[in-house]
Amino acid sequence: MKCPVCGDPLGSATYIKVPIGMCHLCEAVWVAPGQLEVIKKTPRTFDEREVVKVRLLMEWRIVEGEQASPWHCPACGIRQIRTHYKDIPSLIMDRCPKGCGLWLAKDSLQKIQILANEEGRPT
Ligand SMILES: [Zn+2]
Ligand SMILES: [Zn+2]
Repeated sequence: MKCPVCGDPLGSATYIKVPIGMCHLCEAVWVAPGQLEVIKKTPRTFDEREVVKVRLLMEWRIVEGEQASPWHCPACGIRQIRTHYKDIPSLIMDRCPKGCGLWLAKDSLQKIQILANEEGRPT
């Protein structure tokens, strides 16, 4: 599989033991369907600086609903759909309409974990 953004072959990596594809140039990640939930449910501690950084990044750009993604699915080559993670409009991701997987920007996996941590916290 190649990175749809850079055209370089996707490398394999793991994120907290979950196998993912990663582009070593743009650091975008390719995750199989269902694996985001595994990542979300795995507790991890972040230091306060990381959390602040993620919060700032999250407020930067928002996608409402679904639109055409500029990128194709690295697995089957069809145009992906740009959407967001669950009810978080600032956590943007692309998904293959055939369900091959999800394409996320670098830091998105950390964002999902940080938000999951905060959900569990009493307010
Ligand atoms: Zn890339
Ligand atoms: Zn696909």
